[in-house]
Amino acid sequence: MPHPNAASGLVDDEQPAWDLPVAFAAEVEIVPGNNPGVLLYRKDTGRYFQLGRSSRMFVPHLQKGTTPRFLIQRVSDLFQVQESAAARTVTRFLSEIREMGLLDVPPPAKGLRGRAARALAEIPMGRLVLVRDSSPPTASGRRAAWGSLARIAVGAFVGVIALLAVGVAVLAATRLLDVRALGGASIAIPLVLLLHLTMHEAGHWLACRYYGVTVPEAGIAFWFWILPRPYVDRSHAYRLNRRTPLVVITTSGIVIDALNAGIAGVLAFAADDPTLRALAAAVAYILLMTLAHDINPLLPSDGLHAIEAATGQHAFRRRAIQYLLTLVLRLPSSHHHEFAGRRLRLLYLGYGVLSLGYLAAVALLVARLVASVGGLE
Ligand SMILES: [Zn+2]
Repeated sequence: MPHPNAASGLVDDEQPAWDLPVAFAAEVEIVPGNNPGVLLYRKDTGRYFQLGRSSRMFVPHLQKGTTPRFLIQRVSDLFQVQESAAARTVTRFLSEIREMGLLDVPPPAKGLRGRAARALAEIPMGRLVLVRDSSPPTASGRRAAWGSLARIAVGAFVGVIALLAVGVAVLAATRLLDVRALGGASIAIPLVLLLHLTMHEAGHWLACRYYGVTVPEAGIAFWFWILPRPYVDRSHAYRLNRRTPLVVITTSGIVIDALNAGIAGVLAFAADDPTLRALAAAVAYILLMTLAHDINPLLPSDGLHAIEAATGQHAFRRRAIQYLLTLVLRLPSSHHHEFAGRRLRLLYLGYGVLSLGYLAAVALLVARLVASVGGLE
């Protein structure tokens, strides 16, 4: 028999006992002045969590500690609903934030999937910290320099340039990529890629500094102590209480992906030397793949973070997928979805369409490249 909470993905066999007090974990800080919901920060892990607007009523009680029974009573009185319905709401809410590690009750033991995720997270990652800023987390923001119309115009302009750059890169990668002409020049590719990744992260860093966001750490992470990958910790950007700066910070890397791919594409078309042409086309191809990876709405990528920034929803992907699954499989909906408005439900549907479109576009691009590289044209 399916577990009653299975729909929300929070299979939770040990619910907090009704009469035992629960509270936020001691390390949890409530970030003031965050408008769309309630922003929580775990000081020990440096992670941010956002609770929906409907959860706001629980916060003061969980700050000083309360019992689930008391919360149920409050919900039942406030919304004039039966205690059983109030109990469902409170149980779902508590198990959701417990799963996130926000309560002083540790999260329930994880299943196979949770253990696999943990094992992946424990892959040795050496870090070479190049820049450290130990000042307290701030995100002062910056008064909007232009009116909203000018901002939309600038955003549209950047978008068009990025699309043109991607277009040139796609043409170069599909028409000029010649693996045989590349030869020994392929040694340059990892170096060019590393340079590009550094520029991508520098884009995030500059955007953070522009908006007065503390960057506690920036440097190079080494996957398995070998594969280098520059990184910039921009988690404090969640403290910004306007959406535009967060969107700019998250998309700055994607724009640099597109521009660099475009530059490689233009170089490929401009080069007379066949080796240089093949190298530039190969770089355009790899940067297109990097871009595809960075906008993937199904993974915690820059693209997903930009969607979250634009919608003001931190757990957008998880909630959208849960919503779509409950819709497709006709499962009972979770606490959050019961309170989600029409606009949010439409956004979840839009996310589903976008994700399917993304998968189709990547499949087409890969098929086209395989055909042109394999000389099947
Ligand atoms: Zn990025």
